[in-house]
Amino acid sequence: MTALISLRDISKTYRNGDLAVEVLHGISLDIEAGEFVAIIGQSGSGKSTLMNILGCLDQPTSGDYLLDGEHVSGFEPDELAGLRRRTFGFVFQSYNLIPTASAQENVEVPAVYAGASARDRHDRAEALLSSLKLGDRLDHRPNQLSGGQQQRVSIARALMNGGRVILADEPTGALDSQSGDEVMALLRSMNESGHTIIVITHSREVAEQADRLIELRDGRIISDRTKKGRSNPEAATGLKQKAFEGVAAIADISEAIKMAFRALRANLFRTILTLLGIVIGVGSVVAMLAIGTGAQKSVLDRISSMGSDLLVIRPNMANFRGGTGGSVVTLIPADADAILEQPNVAFAVPEMTSTVTVRYGNVDYQTTANGTVPQFTQAKSWTVGKGEFINQDDMTNYAPVAVLGQTVVKTLFADGTDPIGKYVLVNKIPFQIIGVMSEMGAGMGGNDQDDTVLVPLTTGSMRLFGQRNVRTITVQVKDGSAIDATQETIQALLDKRHQRQDTLITNMASIREAVTETSNTLKLFLGAVAAISLLVGGIGVMNIMLVSVTERTREIGVRMATGARRSDILLQFIIEALVVSAIGGAIGVAAGIGTGVLAKLLGAPISFTIGPVALAFACSFLTGLVFGYLPARNASRLQPAVALSSE
Ligand code: ADP
Ligand code: MG
Repeated sequence: MTALISLRDISKTYRNGDLAVEVLHGISLDIEAGEFVAIIGQSGSGKSTLMNILGCLDQPTSGDYLLDGEHVSGFEPDELAGLRRRTFGFVFQSYNLIPTASAQENVEVPAVYAGASARDRHDRAEALLSSLKLGDRLDHRPNQLSGGQQQRVSIARALMNGGRVILADEPTGALDSQSGDEVMALLRSMNESGHTIIVITHSREVAEQADRLIELRDGRIISDRTKKGRSNPEAATGLKQKAFEGVAAIADISEAIKMAFRALRANLFRTILTLLGIVIGVGSVVAMLAIGTGAQKSVLDRISSMGSDLLVIRPNMANFRGGTGGSVVTLIPADADAILEQPNVAFAVPEMTSTVTVRYGNVDYQTTANGTVPQFTQAKSWTVGKGEFINQDDMTNYAPVAVLGQTVVKTLFADGTDPIGKYVLVNKIPFQIIGVMSEMGAGMGGNDQDDTVLVPLTTGSMRLFGQRNVRTITVQVKDGSAIDATQETIQALLDKRHQRQDTLITNMASIREAVTETSNTLKLFLGAVAAISLLVGGIGVMNIMLVSVTERTREIGVRMATGARRSDILLQFIIEALVVSAIGGAIGVAAGIGTGVLAKLLGAPISFTIGPVALAFACSFLTGLVFGYLPARNASRLQPAVALSSE
């Protein structure tokens, strides 16, 4: 019959740099299922080293280890983790409970890695703790329990997945003698129900309670004495692992997320500081892009409100000054008529302007009179709010009629009188009000476009302006795609009519293009600044995760001892990083939107689009993944024995 555990000529050499120390020298040993063995020896004799090898927490430098007749030496890390999960249960001198988890959660850890369902885990952990007289301490954290109670929790944990072989390294070392006796009695009763028990101790008194005593000195077995045979061999062969045969890594992601929240809560202040980096990064991406997009949109809206297939013709001031000086006649209404005859011209709207004083009753108001033609409303995409606009008859008849802008209405008719049909004096000349424009708001230069009185060009030219010059001619083209050619045709026409180049044509489509291009550059720049702050936030996450891994090395060791695979540890720490960055991202999005809304209340043009918000959140998530990966990988590559012995 094959022994449960069979060591053949095992040696172990620790290497620290150039220094190599052989701690175990050719240990050979058989342990049958159901034995109660004590390994005794002085401090430094190699007991813990031997236990780490027995429990597959560490590998021997040479020699063979057969478990159930199978060579363990060639096993991969995850296969070893599987062995620990299924076969071994560990009890340590310092209990090695996870400080942030409750007693019940600590007991559940091995089952989590075995893929047990939450319900099975809870039930079994509760049953085990109750049988160890800790039924009323399920929710206590380790620091709320006495040493003896903590050791019983760790025994429950060792039994969670079955614990065919219980390895106890100085289990009574930190306990008073009464608690120590209780623990030994527990181990004895476990042995009687079939568990193989290996107790490591430096105390002869403790060792004498076992059935077999193996004495170690300086890494060699010096005696091996069996006092009494196995107490219950039948039970031992019948003892199987608990039926947690889940194949999943961590049973569910939700378990990993729960663990992550617990770890983060344990260091709340630090977590908040880390969050802050991400919050600022994501918040600034969201806010800056909203501001950039808003500014762009507002400028483009203003341009669009003027119509995008428009050409605006003005006298060329540079040539004006260089010319003969004095009253130079450049653009005249007849130019508009000539332009109208060109192909691809829908209409040409001349405007003359002058500052005038408008009087109604005893109120005087200074504003701009604008002499124009019936197509004005179309050219400006500006509708009449009430009444009607100047028509062709008004033009031919030199009718003294006026259409008021909202600002003028508000000033002269502050009492709410309906202005339609009333007479006002424009520079002392009576005009009848036939309409009121709808509200237009501020123009490109921030000027109030509603502060105007519109009159027929003919009437204005003769009675108000006393001159024939027009200030602008706005041309609407029929086919926007041919606007450049039309612009050239009109320029040539005007140059010919005036015998010189004294006009300047602005193309709204090209302005729009230029504005879009400039503000896209601006957005890119804002985005880059924000992305840099996100990067800084990510480095913060990485830093904190590295610290966290270092601080929790022992916890990682415990998890590995209870059967966590490398991927489980990797997943856990990545999820922790993801949880931090996702929370940071969510708060950041909220903060960014909040900032944007605030800026909007203060009058800045803000435009939120889902794109940047989603992008910023996704970036924060990605940041967590990228910057969390390295620390998580470091954690998962730790050797269980090394991790367990860390301070
Ligand atoms: P025991 O548990 O019997 O007190 P250990 O197995 O812990 O003994 O240690 C045996 C010897 O190996 C000691 O001399 C100790 O200093 C050394 N040792 C233990 N672990 C390491 C390690 N990781 N690196 C180097 N030396 C070690
Ligand atoms: Mg030791």
